[in-house]
Amino acid sequence: MSIKHTAVSYYGLNYVEHAKKDFEEMKQHGCDTVILAITEFDMDFWFPNINNIVKAAHETGLRVIADPWGIGKYFGGEQVSLFLQNNIHHRQVSAYTGEVLNAACFNTNSFRDYFKNICLKLAKNTDVDGFFWDEPHYAYPKSYASITGGAGDDWACRCPECMKKFQEYYGYDMPKFMNDDVKQFRWREALFTLSDTSKALKQVNPDLEITCCVHATMNTYYVTELRGYDNWDMVAACPYFDVFSTTIINWDLPEQFFVDITERTVAMAKKYGKQSERWLMGYNKRPKDFSQIDHVVDLYESMGVDRLATWTYRGGYGTSVAAKDPLELWDRIGENYNRVLKK
Ligand SMILES: [Zn+2]
Repeated sequence: MSIKHTAVSYYGLNYVEHAKKDFEEMKQHGCDTVILAITEFDMDFWFPNINNIVKAAHETGLRVIADPWGIGKYFGGEQVSLFLQNNIHHRQVSAYTGEVLNAACFNTNSFRDYFKNICLKLAKNTDVDGFFWDEPHYAYPKSYASITGGAGDDWACRCPECMKKFQEYYGYDMPKFMNDDVKQFRWREALFTLSDTSKALKQVNPDLEITCCVHATMNTYYVTELRGYDNWDMVAACPYFDVFSTTIINWDLPEQFFVDITERTVAMAKKYGKQSERWLMGYNKRPKDFSQIDHVVDLYESMGVDRLATWTYRGGYGTSVAAKDPLELWDRIGENYNRVLKK
């Protein structure tokens, strides 16, 4: 049992010479992989420089994984969305209120083409080593529902395109109250969006590595978040994914939650012959005692996790989601990365 890869995410996709220095710092912090958080604006405006940055990371000895960060507000992330700016249709709709939401409906052909084309453009024009599907989700419900209980009742998406597709498949109008058909429909359509693009990427380059990172939720008999990717068996079974990953757990949560999520993540990955990945919170919050990082890293390693990843470079230093003491947090994570990689 040993950690095979150590990754950190990175936002800076502007000037190669600046990125180069940051990549060297990542190497010193024991990272062997950088996850580039690529925004719709980066694709639209900074695209000529993206491959130069990918090459600089390679020259520094880092693997490079592309994260289509927050695209369409379908994936996690704080970035703004050009798709939403440039389209007044193809948005998710609340089932209970009929309200149009500020998130793209990823079950529409329009958004699926948009997303696939962004990824294919990267695959065909850059030397990235893979892709990272970052917390894909339906717009509702959200919050810590699965940890605290009491998930919200409302859900998405009940847009005209989803309703039409549901009617054609099941032969009756899509209900407003979620039933088993709606659950199955949401899972199937959500997974298709990712698997279809993943398949297309593998056709361009079979060596591209695909990680699917879903929310770290308990999905118990009583409460699940129903974000669309909470049926872990369905997600992990997808033949185009190489790594099954689950997201960050806030340092303040009980240790048993870290244990339960990690146990299920590793078991699910093994069941379907994938590598497992667990995340460390390297932004937003530092643990009260930095030694908790050492402890959690040991826990992950002892439970058979294949890969560690951290959001984000320098503890989010200088951003509105910086942790308290971001540079110390980054250093402590770096010490741990160096420690586990040397084993
Ligand atoms: Zn929809």
